[in-house]
Amino acid sequence: MNYGIDIWGNDNYIIDDGKVKLKALSQPALIDIVKDVRKQGHTGPLLLRFPHLIEKQIDFVYSQFNRAMKEFQYKGKFNALYPLKVNQFPNFVKNLVKLGTDYNYGLEAGSKAELLLAMAYNNPTAPITVNGFKDNEMIDLGFIASEMGYNITLTIEGLNELESIIHTSKKRFGYMPNIGLRVRLHSSGAGVWAKSGGINSKFGLTSTELIKAVKLLEKNNLLDSFTMIHFHIGSQITEIPPVKKALREAGNIYAELKKLGAIHLNSINLGGGLAIEYSQYQDKLLRNYTLSEYTNDVVYLLKEISHKKNVTEPDIYIESGRYIAAHHALLVAPVLELFSGEYTAEKLIPKKNPPLIQELYDLYNTINKNNAFEFLHDSIDHMESLLTLFDLGYIDLEDRSNTEVLVNLIIKKAVILLKDKNYEELLSIQESVQERYLVNFSIFQSLPDFWGLEQHFPMMPLDKLDEEATRSASIWDITCDSDGEISFNPKKPLFLHDVDLSKDDYFLGFFLVGAYQEVLGMKHNLFTHPTEVSVTLNKEGYEIENITAAQSISDIFEDLDYDIKEIENNLKSKIENSNLIDNNMQKHILAEINMLLKDNGYLKNEEYQ
Ligand SMILES: *Cc1c(COP(=O)(O)O)cnc(C)c1O
Repeated sequence: MNYGIDIWGNDNYIIDDGKVKLKALSQPALIDIVKDVRKQGHTGPLLLRFPHLIEKQIDFVYSQFNRAMKEFQYKGKFNALYPLKVNQFPNFVKNLVKLGTDYNYGLEAGSKAELLLAMAYNNPTAPITVNGFKDNEMIDLGFIASEMGYNITLTIEGLNELESIIHTSKKRFGYMPNIGLRVRLHSSGAGVWAKSGGINSKFGLTSTELIKAVKLLEKNNLLDSFTMIHFHIGSQITEIPPVKKALREAGNIYAELKKLGAIHLNSINLGGGLAIEYSQYQDKLLRNYTLSEYTNDVVYLLKEISHKKNVTEPDIYIESGRYIAAHHALLVAPVLELFSGEYTAEKLIPKKNPPLIQELYDLYNTINKNNAFEFLHDSIDHMESLLTLFDLGYIDLEDRSNTEVLVNLIIKKAVILLKDKNYEELLSIQESVQERYLVNFSIFQSLPDFWGLEQHFPMMPLDKLDEEATRSASIWDITCDSDGEISFNPKKPLFLHDVDLSKDDYFLGFFLVGAYQEVLGMKHNLFTHPTEVSVTLNKEGYEIENITAAQSISDIFEDLDYDIKEIENNLKSKIENSNLIDNNMQKHILAEINMLLKDNGYLKNEEYQ
């Protein structure tokens, strides 16, 4: 079982020797990296970043577009920008800017904060684009970027923004940013995120407004600064036809605007939307095109339209973020507990058993390959009857405990027996014999799109891949919220190993979490962004860099604007006023509390195993 790694893995991983390994240079096993980091005292969930996977995506996007342009003898140039909203964490952004230097890879900003980040980190000659709603302050900031020497384009979302720019241009120092117009298309994208395109979209100028914008620019002698039109039809566009439709529309708008006198208009910005394959199942693919098809279609269409309308072929800009960021990060979380792990034969309480429980004992003792399926069903039926008997007061708590232990023992035996015999039968009972895996992470913090959009992320254990995984698994996080669960789904079954955690560690990897998850993650139950590290590979091995520990509990309190001194003083005076404890105990307890406040809130018990 390879957990669909050949579908979603993008050729980044291999399975070898029962372990997931990176398919580059020294090919280290993920589990070895994780164990190295944990040795330095970082238990709990870990976010691993791989800069080589950022570079791979950047290089792929540039090389595919440049290849297509060469093939079609396209005369415009290709440019790309990374949209900061996808992941603003410093260990990602700084790596990305560094790796993007040779490509002149730029940054896209959607808010004042993001624009300030772009101005602080962007490569000096690389482009910056600014989308999103803008007030006068943000427009001033755009002018400042231009005055600093950046090649920046402010994309106008509405005519009022254009009026502000005209106004600002009169009072600043004369270094005009370029102006882009976001066009409102009647065609929209496909998929759950496709709310950004279309005639009812939140953004962009209608054709009437576009004409008015050109006239306004002309009247104010700013037509020279108008260089780009922009559209963005949504994220995770799963098929090409909507892209082609939007592009045909935008291409014609480009040509028409040039005819209206926009002589410096020379670029089309396609926004983002390139999709990632998140599926672990061949029959449930989410994306039906390759980057090579996408680039061919884009370049060919724009060439065709330019030719037909007799205008110069525009430079092409893209702002795909998910495609660049998703692969680089993976979350690794330790399994803390298998719920059935408590159900061992030693827990059975000897006593005179009611007949149904005696039957469970018989089933347990005589189950074999041939009757396993039938016995399993019988035991589950018996359990239901016994639980009803308990509710009615006919059996006691010890009987009920024996029932639960026995049924779990029967399930374990049956799963092992059926594994060798008939996998189909095992599949047919998978739902009723699920195992619950308690995992040391928060779904709200680390997979928020699973919680909010039921978006699937590939998951798999990092080792034991040479042993058959037989337990149908539902994954529980450590928040006390019942939504913190990835329940077993028979349409996309997840099987994990039956591990004895008192002897063995077991780690789950949640892949493709580099786009959107980190910054959307929320501090539900006050669990924070996990400890993160960057891992760079070399020929001999790898290096672990930039370990950033998860925020401490005091830090979260401060984020919520608590006065941490007040919290410490409250705790201190309550301890000192407690007449149950003497001075020495007080000191000891205070020290304990201080330690806890300085540490993160993820669970630690795994250390003591
Ligand atoms: C969100 C956004 C992007 C990035 O979209 P992806 O789907 O991550 O590629 C690009 N451009 C604009 C204007 C956006 O709003």
